[in-house]
Amino acid sequence: MDAFWLHKEAAPHWLRGLARRKPVFFPQRAGRSGWRFLAVHERSELSFEDYHPTIVPPGKKLLPAVETLFRFHPDDAGEPVIEPVVDPTSRILAGVRPCDLKAIDLMDRVHRHPPEDPHYRARRDPTTLIAIACPHPCDERCFCEAVGSLNWRGNADLFLTPIGDSFLVEVQSEAGASLIDGESFHPCPDARPHRIQAEAARPKPFGRQFPRPMEHLAATIAAQWSSPIWERHVQRCFSCGSCNLVCPTCYCFDTRDESGLTNPQYGQRVRTWDACMLPRFAEVAGGHNFRPLPAGRQRHRVERKFDYLPRRFGDHSFCVGCGRCGRQCTANIDIFSIILDLAQPEETRS
Ligand code: SF4
Ligand code: SF4
Repeated sequence: MDAFWLHKEAAPHWLRGLARRKPVFFPQRAGRSGWRFLAVHERSELSFEDYHPTIVPPGKKLLPAVETLFRFHPDDAGEPVIEPVVDPTSRILAGVRPCDLKAIDLMDRVHRHPPEDPHYRARRDPTTLIAIACPHPCDERCFCEAVGSLNWRGNADLFLTPIGDSFLVEVQSEAGASLIDGESFHPCPDARPHRIQAEAARPKPFGRQFPRPMEHLAATIAAQWSSPIWERHVQRCFSCGSCNLVCPTCYCFDTRDESGLTNPQYGQRVRTWDACMLPRFAEVAGGHNFRPLPAGRQRHRVERKFDYLPRRFGDHSFCVGCGRCGRQCTANIDIFSIILDLAQPEETRS
């Protein structure tokens, strides 16, 4: 596939041009402390260098917090009619970091696994991804290299690597090629040596690391089902579910039917995010709760990331090391610290 050089100063102009053709989302400041993937407009401040991880990951644009799945109503004969609601809007997610890029790939595996989720597919198929490499860890919370997402680039349509005052822009799909326009792009005949050089210039180690290789973690965690570590790491937990809600690889949901009081035959089915750290998540009909205690919920969450989902959908980890859960947790509980404790020999634990 082709590669180009794009001067960094030309990049915001390029994104604004794309935004005139279709919705483009890019990480932008929102309020005093937060960053969010917001729609790009003519006057948007677009900074490729001064990046902070967004509170909500870009992949959630494909799986919104609240969405209508279908509407129902009676036909002329009084028989029920169901009208699916799908969102086929073509959009560009730009400035996607490798950890979030990998998270979108993992969500593709989940939602395309039979039975495929048509609502996810309707959003995902027309979505183009412009990813950008990380020259340094985003902050002290990140551990993307430790879980194998730092070098992820598979599902990007365009992949940008910052090198000096330019971006090396590698085209990885036809959808990506269609975004190359104008005189700002200059062909790069051989991208490989530049990419290798940029990767070699990154800090080593890159972010936080585990003491054991990734492929051993699932067995390490599974062997400690009864460990007191689970209890120790939820002592301050409020069971608020924020860690789930900001996670790019959490996708659990609940559904409810909303119908009018005057005519309950008219209404809609709505899907909303749910969270396994919430106390009533595992409650079933009759009132039994399979995970009534926070320690059990935390263990379930960690097993999902490092054991259950990797076994079902492939890969070593369904945690991409973005650090969001630790950053947003009101009690400063960090999944990395939990794994670190589980992975350490018992005699060296604090
Ligand atoms: S965000 Fe923190 S306090 Fe809230 S449920 Fe998750 S671990 Fe517990
Ligand atoms: S578990 Fe935490 S660090 Fe891992 S992907 Fe989810 S939010 Fe990111």
